[in-house]
Amino acid sequence: MAKKLIIDLTKCRTCEECVVECLYDHHPVNHGMKSLLEMAAFQFTCRRCEDAPCIEVCPPEALERNNEGIVERALNLCIACKSCVTVCPFGTLMNHFFEVRQPICDLCDFNELTKSLKCIDTCPKGALSFTEFVPDDKKHILELNERVLVKEYAWEKLKQN
Ligand code: SF4
Ligand code: SF4
Repeated sequence: MAKKLIIDLTKCRTCEECVVECLYDHHPVNHGMKSLLEMAAFQFTCRRCEDAPCIEVCPPEALERNNEGIVERALNLCIACKSCVTVCPFGTLMNHFFEVRQPICDLCDFNELTKSLKCIDTCPKGALSFTEFVPDDKKHILELNERVLVKEYAWEKLKQN
């Protein structure tokens, strides 16, 4: 079974700012972890408000829902004003998502020797691991993409829909 990166958002939220380091050979300033955390927040933590105040408040109209109703941020439009962070009534959005405008993560840094990734080694809360977990609703393990799983107590109503 292929191993996946698993991010435990329940531990993640105990940090004020993400300090996880990220190594990406082809791009000296990479913020892959922040990108993954943003994706996970919009996908699993966001309450998908009907009136979506985050979308309403965004000055350059950088936020919109995709076909599945998930809010997404257009990186080329966002000016990092963080108005959406302030207005979200559920604390879904965190300041550190918006410090970068072109994040990317492709698990590039897997170290065969240590069987680890730089992000895993530098997370002070131990919120990251590389394991053979599979998505499991009962254990609150959800699939973010083909290589990344997220542990999050997803909003119950979303699962009922
Ligand atoms: S931080 Fe970006 S996405 Fe959020 S309101 Fe400002 S411009 Fe819009
Ligand atoms: S305001 Fe917050 S909870 Fe509501 S749709 Fe926007 S990000 Fe999601």
